[in-house]
Amino acid sequence: MTDWRLFTEIPRIAYFSMEIGLTTEIPTYSGGLGVLAGDTIKSAADLKLPMVAITLISRKGYFRQSFSSDGWQEESSVDWQPEELLELLPRKTLVTIEDRDVKVQAWLYRVNSPTGGTLPVLFLDTDIPGNNPEDRKITDHLYGGDKEYRLKQEIVLGIGGARLLQVLGFQVRKYHLNEGHASLLTLELLNHHRRPVEDTWDERASWNTPSVQEKCVFTTHTPVEAGHDSFPYDMVKRVLGDVIPIALLQELGGKDKLNMTLLALNLSHFVNGVAKKHGEVSQALFPGFEIHAITNGIHPFTWASPYMMNLFDEYLPSWANEPELLVRVDNIPDQEIWDAHAGAKAYLLQYIEEVTGEQFDPDILTIGFARRATAYKRANMIFTDTEHLLKIGGGKLQLVFAGKAHPQDEHGKRMIQEIRKQKEFFGDKLKIVYLPNYNMDVASRLIPGVDLWLNNPLRPLEASGTSGMKAALNGVPNFSVLDGWWIEGHIEGITGWSIGPPPTETTTNEDVNHTDEDVEDLYAKLEKTIIPLYYSDQDGWIQVMKNAIGKNAYYFNTHVMMRRYVTEAYLR
Ligand SMILES: *Cc1c(COP(=O)(O)O)cnc(C)c1O
Repeated sequence: MTDWRLFTEIPRIAYFSMEIGLTTEIPTYSGGLGVLAGDTIKSAADLKLPMVAITLISRKGYFRQSFSSDGWQEESSVDWQPEELLELLPRKTLVTIEDRDVKVQAWLYRVNSPTGGTLPVLFLDTDIPGNNPEDRKITDHLYGGDKEYRLKQEIVLGIGGARLLQVLGFQVRKYHLNEGHASLLTLELLNHHRRPVEDTWDERASWNTPSVQEKCVFTTHTPVEAGHDSFPYDMVKRVLGDVIPIALLQELGGKDKLNMTLLALNLSHFVNGVAKKHGEVSQALFPGFEIHAITNGIHPFTWASPYMMNLFDEYLPSWANEPELLVRVDNIPDQEIWDAHAGAKAYLLQYIEEVTGEQFDPDILTIGFARRATAYKRANMIFTDTEHLLKIGGGKLQLVFAGKAHPQDEHGKRMIQEIRKQKEFFGDKLKIVYLPNYNMDVASRLIPGVDLWLNNPLRPLEASGTSGMKAALNGVPNFSVLDGWWIEGHIEGITGWSIGPPPTETTTNEDVNHTDEDVEDLYAKLEKTIIPLYYSDQDGWIQVMKNAIGKNAYYFNTHVMMRRYVTEAYLR
């Protein structure tokens, strides 16, 4: 085991993220944002990029999902033992919260790549004797508690994280803020970068905002208003105190409320959205800032099923660290692609039976849908006209769902309950399961095992979406609304299929929504194109599977993404 001090020998990019999904055993993530952060760090380790990640320990995880007999989501804490997986580092720092000193410590996890690259991930923790009992819980629940709890977590992440890097001796080249949760770190940097001014009356000039900007890169992840944290100034004053003068804070973070996105925008020299369209939509949301786009990816080695991995190893050696080689997928014989997928499908069907008792048929076209259960993702859209769906899909389709609703998202929970109740209508004619407790393990079994990956969000609210990339890597074509990454990955009938009209939205507040057209197109394409292709033209279907790998997965991965961050953001 390398001594942690070795990590401090070279300057690094410090990647701050509220959540990180590295493995299922470390439950410090809730969904897409965290998995992206984990995949980012894994690709960075493969590529031997000098980085260090900073996140929260989330001792109680996000939550474990189960269902009542009525199909209502129930939540319980995930207890895990950090000391079994992580190494406690010997130095601590302090942050001030509500005028109290709060001690912060860090646990180290090493991401080891087969290439020999190793990167440190620091998990911040306030559960330390001497901290008051309430403060010891600050790093317990990911996205739990109220606004004040969130603000305290963001103080620990942003300010505590920056200070710990310093006391541990890390040299930081750039700070990468993955979403606005860590924006308070800019205030810590502002204090570090103060410069003397000759005219002592010119307070503002002593605050060297350009030198902080030069250090910071900011990635925004959602065009949904609720996704951008903001805090009232009376709360900020009480909980955070006066770390910088209030007038300056209002200039940088908003007049009426402290908006964490605005703060990060104002103090970063490079800002990006996570897909081309999301860059444009964010640009409209924040006029006056230059917003670039770097499309998200997935870590190929993490998300290829063992079945596909064997094939790739045989026909496209070194694909995992050079995923561009997947462009040569046509070197793999059709039958072997089909058989590898059949293996992944059998593995999923076995899991479905273990968990739900339902026996799915390996010869039936199986559609998968799994992501956070929240209104704009419209998980229940396929059930808009159940009679019609039964007519099209009876005996020809099976549906697998999964996904958690945030504990306070009643609408999301109702959506799940509705889906779980569809079984009563469809019975054995069209099997439907909703798998509990979607997490990285479930995802890596579910996504490669279905035949078609469905996504029908309300446009333009899907910033990127990454589960569709995991599908493509495993030869599972996407059937999706044209939003997020799919606008870039979609070639109709070649890499998969679109749902609904071409994307024309440029802002999130357009009145038109295409739900009726989307539903109609969803049914029409299933009936006239997708079901016939699957059952009557296996060679044609395999061609689409191969194109998903060769024309989508070769590009939509975190290796390509990280090379772009290096050349377009970190080296500027
Ligand atoms: C990939 C992944 C997500 C993200 O899914 P989207 O389609 O981007 O919403 C969420 N949760 C888990 C567990 C994942 O693996």
